[in-house]
Amino acid sequence: TDPAATPDEIAFEGALRPTSLAEFVGQPKVRGQLEVLLQAARMQERTPDHILLAGPPGLGKTTLATIIGAETGRPIRYSSGPAIQHAGDLAAVLSALVPGEVLFVDEIHRMARSAEEMLYLAMEDFRIDIMVGKGAGAASIPLELAPFTLVGATTRSGMLPAPLRDRFGFTAHLEFYDPADLERVLARSSRLMDLTIEPAALAELAGRSRGTPRIANRLLRRVRDWLLVHEGSSDLEGVRAALELYDVDEAGLDRIDRAVLHAIAHRFTGGPVGLSTLAAAVGEEADTIESVVEPFLVREGLIGRTPRGRIATPTGMRHAGAQTQDATLD
Ligand code: ADP
Repeated sequence: TDPAATPDEIAFEGALRPTSLAEFVGQPKVRGQLEVLLQAARMQERTPDHILLAGPPGLGKTTLATIIGAETGRPIRYSSGPAIQHAGDLAAVLSALVPGEVLFVDEIHRMARSAEEMLYLAMEDFRIDIMVGKGAGAASIPLELAPFTLVGATTRSGMLPAPLRDRFGFTAHLEFYDPADLERVLARSSRLMDLTIEPAALAELAGRSRGTPRIANRLLRRVRDWLLVHEGSSDLEGVRAALELYDVDEAGLDRIDRAVLHAIAHRFTGGPVGLSTLAAAVGEEADTIESVVEPFLVREGLIGRTPRGRIATPTGMRHAGAQTQDATLD
């Protein structure tokens, strides 16, 4: 989930969330991998291996965790890295697990260091050592845990310490969705929202959704509002007008994407520029740029990463309306 999500969005996302692998659109590779993993566990009636879900925000990590619980018929408990600031926070969560439960830890890379070591032992042996007392009277009390499946989600798999990464039986790398899959997400969502929007208009929305289902659903709500207020027919013009009103460009770049691309293209004349300099120039955290903005701009072929820093590609320079060395653009 998105930490910046509004209450309206959280309620809406819950309603639109697919509840089975069959309903989960796109990501054929990950779906196939999970199907085998879950079915094998079901056949042997054992707890599935720990699973790490990696990828930018809004691509379906929380949704998949919920599906893993549903597909294995097990209860699921939600927690998050920022909520685990001490080993004790983790001990409380782990000791409350019922046998076979799925424990979802969102943003697992933000968990406190002191909790990580406890988690290693818990993942491997389903046991933890609880420290009681201080100084000479300190003692560690072993505690058996119920077997559980840890499902971790991270936007930064590279930031996870290797011992933690290695303890997951499987890492699913979620990719940005292509427009055809986003069209299916949008068709499904509009059905659930009782909206009738013609296919050409859905295709336009899909193409501008930044490869991300959460953004597709968000834009769909803005289009819904626009159509309501303008009592317009659900056509392409309506979609275009709504997207223009909300400042979404043709490639689906949002405000930060454009700021980053613009800074590389104009301020640093195409680059290369280092991450921290770039972050300071656009007033965003380096972490956000690296895990959210860059993966999308790289995939769209607008920027590139080189050992000396980030560069704008000729396409990126054109998109930003900047001049490249060998051509003058209109
Ligand atoms: P993440 O946890 O990766 O940030 P979420 O699982 O919260 O992303 O997904 C955001 C929203 O996008 C969900 O409410 C869900 O409705 C929608 N969504 C994500 N992936 C899919 C998918 N593959 N098919 C249909 N809807 C999806």
